[in-house]
Amino acid sequence: MSELLIRNGLLFDHDICTSADILIRDGKIAAIGPSLTTSGRVLDAQGKVVMPGFINAHTHSNQALEKGLCDRYPLDAWMVIASYGGANAELTPRDLYVSAQIGAIEMIRTGSTSVLDMPRVDLRTFEAGSNAIMQAYIDIGFRASVAVSYTDQSFPASLPLELIPNLSDSLQPKRTAAVADVIGHLESFIARWKGKHALVTPMVGPSSLPRCSTELFEASVDLCRRCGVGMQTHLLSGKSQVFVGKQRYGGSTVDFIRRMGGLEEWATFAHSIWLDDAEVSMLAQSNAVAVHNPVSNMKLGAGLAPMVELRRQGGRIALGSDGASSADSQNMFETVKGAAILHRINHTPDQWIMAEDALDMVWNGGAAATRQKVGKIAVGYEADLVVLHSRNMFLAPKDQLAGQIVHSELGGSVDSTIVAGEILMLEGKIATIDEAAIHAEAQEIVGRIYAGLPERMKKFEDVRPMFDELERRVHAAPLHFARFCS
Ligand SMILES: [Zn+2]
Repeated sequence: MSELLIRNGLLFDHDICTSADILIRDGKIAAIGPSLTTSGRVLDAQGKVVMPGFINAHTHSNQALEKGLCDRYPLDAWMVIASYGGANAELTPRDLYVSAQIGAIEMIRTGSTSVLDMPRVDLRTFEAGSNAIMQAYIDIGFRASVAVSYTDQSFPASLPLELIPNLSDSLQPKRTAAVADVIGHLESFIARWKGKHALVTPMVGPSSLPRCSTELFEASVDLCRRCGVGMQTHLLSGKSQVFVGKQRYGGSTVDFIRRMGGLEEWATFAHSIWLDDAEVSMLAQSNAVAVHNPVSNMKLGAGLAPMVELRRQGGRIALGSDGASSADSQNMFETVKGAAILHRINHTPDQWIMAEDALDMVWNGGAAATRQKVGKIAVGYEADLVVLHSRNMFLAPKDQLAGQIVHSELGGSVDSTIVAGEILMLEGKIATIDEAAIHAEAQEIVGRIYAGLPERMKKFEDVRPMFDELERRVHAAPLHFARFCS
């Protein structure tokens, strides 16, 4: 039996704001109250805030070494450069391990205690690559649900190619894997990891419906049902996918997924931007979780997700940073603030997402997305907690504290981070791994990735005019969603 006592902090979550001790036993919150005692370790939180760690419900750990990679590229062009064999040079299992730990370090330093990671892993080294990522999280002590991302088609298969004149041969869609092979890899990943370690949970991650064959997506839904695992996928993350949905899925991508049986509580849909009004209602009425990525959506100019409408209709919403080559940061303070303030530009104040709503999304929505008992300071919950020192903030009543955490803080106050009752960072120092050594190794990998970049960018320049034209045509096409017309 292991114990940790957090003494006399100002406990803050969605429901409470009070000074008390927290006794943690075997990774879970065992008691909350004044003057608790322990024979184990004591962490003095006098004058500090203790809150549940943020849950980052969508990122791609394989991109953690690609910060600063792309600036003037919209989503589809960025996908080709960053995600499909562009700067995403072939990553070895060790590279994936280092990349996952670099992302985890940033999250630990900025108030997150768990992640729903959707890393892209080469099918040729799938077993070693996926194992390396799981081990990276175990070694650093971070809680992770890992939905390894996959497709069975080349990226152009997901584009409305009829909008591109003079399509080059290199953009002709290709089949890249057999469905049975992909599903076989996933079955073995689930068998290796399901229920094997308290910190890591396997999930499945079909990249998106248009980026997969319908057959593969259906098989993925079936796999979730058979194996009792969750799924994360991207949903209508770019406007071009509306045109694909109209042509390929009978008009509604969301309804197509619903009819397939995929709109369930175990399914999480990253981005969820270009939903029409009926699709917003359909998602809201389901138990599936949308993951809002406001910073990434702004950075890539991908669109304004209908989160106010979805929330008003009772939809479940979590928050995510997205990968570091699109959003360039894994700092969830940025994302929480982005979610709270982005939608104010086109909604009246009575509809705004307030600080406490954004915290509800990152904690309760994140818990729903990862299906873990996290995001709350209550007995029986996982002891995934963050201690904030008050040098940059003021201890204040609940509403003002929520406002400071959401609107004023960027992670500079994160003092200590605890996951499953283990201290991962104490007073700013990472306690579980040699941070300097991992950083040095990451720098070597980054050097390798960027050494080959000019050559890969040259290949992209050949097809760039076609992407520019596609972007122009998609951008110009009107969409008659009611929320754009009010
Ligand atoms: Zn993503």
